[in-house]
Amino acid sequence: MAYPESAPRYGQFGDVTFVRGGVLERFSIDLEVSRGLGRGMYWFWTYEPTFHMLNTQCDMCKKRHIPKNIECSATLGVRSPFDNPNILYSVDERFENVRPTTIRFVDYGGKINGCVVYLSRDNIYAQAKELMINDATQVHRKGLL
Ligand SMILES: [Zn+2]
Repeated sequence: MAYPESAPRYGQFGDVTFVRGGVLERFSIDLEVSRGLGRGMYWFWTYEPTFHMLNTQCDMCKKRHIPKNIECSATLGVRSPFDNPNILYSVDERFENVRPTTIRFVDYGGKINGCVVYLSRDNIYAQAKELMINDATQVHRKGLL
């Protein structure tokens, strides 16, 4: 399997697809890299939030907190409802109904790393449920907790 040789620079990190609970790590899908992977496999770049973002519970902004973002827990002054590290919370409505079943992380040694995620869409690949090794990794949408 061909993984990208290097991670993108900070400025090239794309829109956030998922936020991992607790650690508030950002996951951004890369459809171009995903095209070279097998069926159901998708490539994501991950970005570790800064200490400040974590400390203020910034959970809906991309790479730094945007005070005008009224969806962000830091703006609202509340603890993020994204609290379970075994759940990838969906912040992109196109990915509300997918279920990541396996994640394989690829470490590029910086703040931006990568991973392959097997995504199954419950409504399309109903039988994929039987293939799940564990149920630890799920997608939740913020407003529906
Ligand atoms: Zn924020």
